[in-house]
Amino acid sequence: MSVNCKICNSTRLVFVAHTAKCKDCGVLMYYPFQDDTLFVSKEDPASIAESKRLFRDWYRRSAFLNHSNFTKMFLFAIQDPSRVQEGIKILDYGAGGGQFALICKSFLPSCEVYTVDVNDYGLIDEYRPLVHQIKWKDFPTDTTRFDYIFLNDVYEHLSDPIKTMTLLGSKLNDDGALFIDTPKQFWIYTFFKSLSSKLYLRLLKGTVSVAHLQIWTPRSFRLSMQQSGFQVVRYRELSEFTMNHSHYLRNMGITGFLGRVLGTLFYRSAKYLAKNKIMALVSKSGFSHTSL
Ligand SMILES: [Zn+2]
Repeated sequence: MSVNCKICNSTRLVFVAHTAKCKDCGVLMYYPFQDDTLFVSKEDPASIAESKRLFRDWYRRSAFLNHSNFTKMFLFAIQDPSRVQEGIKILDYGAGGGQFALICKSFLPSCEVYTVDVNDYGLIDEYRPLVHQIKWKDFPTDTTRFDYIFLNDVYEHLSDPIKTMTLLGSKLNDDGALFIDTPKQFWIYTFFKSLSSKLYLRLLKGTVSVAHLQIWTPRSFRLSMQQSGFQVVRYRELSEFTMNHSHYLRNMGITGFLGRVLGTLFYRSAKYLAKNKIMALVSKSGFSHTSL
């Protein structure tokens, strides 16, 4: 049975360990393909308490970098908040703990922030008064339409990116826009692959997982937008990290002294060396009030 690329439908896939890389659009995917059921929150009290604990712990470690990253993302999408009308509706899709609502409310006090996440219990209780939470199971049939939708570090998690983007497109107002920030492949993938298969496997282990289901190339990213009926309004490649260097070294299984020193040096100079993220603003018409 042939396996098709999730994005371009090609059958020209190269399988290495737990990954499949498309030779046509270049997307690097977790294989076997997953669905969302693994991460949908369970409803029993012990699981709810565990979700709350995990999300608070993630927040404690990522809040510092997210605070400035989220601000950059917001201003990439909405370059001049003073020109935005009162009371716009913003959806934070894959909101996690809900920290992004604070950034939105800081720039636009009158905006209404909605959240949805595959885990309904990640939202930090202290942020609940700031947002309207839509439960995961209710989201497909919810009729709210939004002026902006943000996917901050979410696009790589989607099990079926085209299907989700098509759904999100149906929830955008006609002049609305959708923002995406997501990891992309960069030179280190081909460099490590040509240098040593062991090193390449570590990189795959550290970057592709049941949570990070696809790592994009510019081509596969643009193709995925096209397939879901979106046009790219604004696009940038940049260097950005959510966690400090020890998080990524641990994920890659790098524990030796030399590896840690080299890894730390790379992380610290990454802004000059690596463009590991895509930031894009897309809309259905190719225009939006944000492009004014
Ligand atoms: Zn492909």
